[in-house]
Amino acid sequence: MSFKSFNLSDLMIKSLARQGYLSPSSIQTRVIPKALKGGNIVAQSETGSGKTHAFIIPIIENLQLDSDRLQALIITPTRELAQQIYAFLEAFKGDYPKLHARLFTAGKETERTFRQGMRVPHVIIGTPTRIKTMLEAKSLIDLGSVKTLVLDEADMLMEMGYFADIDIIYRLLKAPPQMMVFSATIEFNLRKNLEKYVGADFVIEMDDVKTAKTVGHHAIDVKHGDRLHAIEIFIKTLNPYLLIIFASRKEQVATISSYLKSAGHDNIMLHGDMSARERKSAYKLIGANKHRLIVASDLAARGLDIKDVSEVLNFDLPKDLTYYFHRAGRTGRFGASGQCYSFYNSDTVTQLEKLIESGVSFSFHELRDDTIISTDKIARRKTRKQKVDPDLERQIKLAAAKVKTDVVKPGYKKKVRDAVAKVKRKHKREIIRKDIRRQRVARYRKEGSKNE
Ligand code: AMP
Repeated sequence: MSFKSFNLSDLMIKSLARQGYLSPSSIQTRVIPKALKGGNIVAQSETGSGKTHAFIIPIIENLQLDSDRLQALIITPTRELAQQIYAFLEAFKGDYPKLHARLFTAGKETERTFRQGMRVPHVIIGTPTRIKTMLEAKSLIDLGSVKTLVLDEADMLMEMGYFADIDIIYRLLKAPPQMMVFSATIEFNLRKNLEKYVGADFVIEMDDVKTAKTVGHHAIDVKHGDRLHAIEIFIKTLNPYLLIIFASRKEQVATISSYLKSAGHDNIMLHGDMSARERKSAYKLIGANKHRLIVASDLAARGLDIKDVSEVLNFDLPKDLTYYFHRAGRTGRFGASGQCYSFYNSDTVTQLEKLIESGVSFSFHELRDDTIISTDKIARRKTRKQKVDPDLERQIKLAAAKVKTDVVKPGYKKKVRDAVAKVKRKHKREIIRKDIRRQRVARYRKEGSKNE
């Protein structure tokens, strides 16, 4: 599939090609044709899927660049995201010199800098409160020509309590705009909030996968040993190119960072307590390849586009498992391969189990004698010695029989292969699940006997 099939202008195709975008991502394929026609969109999509271009391409295509009127508003929960989107829009300027976009984020634009008589941008990108404040000063900007309103990372906008401001912005617009909503998760409360803007019967455009297919998932059993030391072993064993270590609590982020520094591993922190300026300078240093190790809280897991992350290490598994996908999504971006590792022990296997249930296929490893060894290999060695599992045999035969037709059609062999592989994968997940359950039960028994 190429961008040409979307009925885009030649200029847009040329601009995309100049920027190295040759074929659309899955979410772009779903969203762009609908958006070009002016339809409302609600899309469930992770960052790294190309979702920003899914909305900026149709916005630019539909802009009247000769007019000095505001035509699109893009609302994001954080100023970093706003800056990122702004940079993506600015990249089109080489081909669209008249394109005028402005950032409205705290500390960036104020009523003083946006004086009466200044050129009105075609597109405003910013955080809700700042946009609201600026638009409420009605004399500054005419809102009669706003055609599109984008809510980016809508679940985060909701979590941060921004929907009151968004309601005000929406009501300020003269006519109902085309709504384009993007969110990593779309749960009940968010649906309810969105109904006000898009009606109750909306279709959710979905990304095909939760995380890129190119990301490998690994679970490392660190038992109850020192996890800080385990990070050192991890670094020594894998020698990562650019690693993000995630921890759920910011105190842990600080502890990990100073531990690694004292062990001679230079690193940089990213967490919610840093000022916007500190974070910006951290991103700059990371972008300039000054650091190979990043220690981050979940703040950095969402939305941010750090290039070339080769590995992600979860020091712990996040309580809210949707964050697992946010974290894993920092690597394997746009076709690159990446690996996501998670430390676990018998206390946290339940979370691992839930991830397995939601379809994540892990390779299993274990920390032993200061190295990380694959327990999959040990399990394979064991199973080779074992007799073939009759239940698996039966399931394989059944799956193959289902695919079989009387007349052999093209692609038949592949279909059988795929069906058998699916059964084997499911079977493997079952074995792992049972194994994890066994470990948990053993632990409860042990603890129970201690308490007696
Ligand atoms: P996102 O955060 O989901 O908007 O993804 C952003 C990353 O994907 C950026 O690095 C973009 O430059 C890149 N990107 C967006 N669309 C495409 C495309 N069609 N082909 C290749 N890379 C793309």
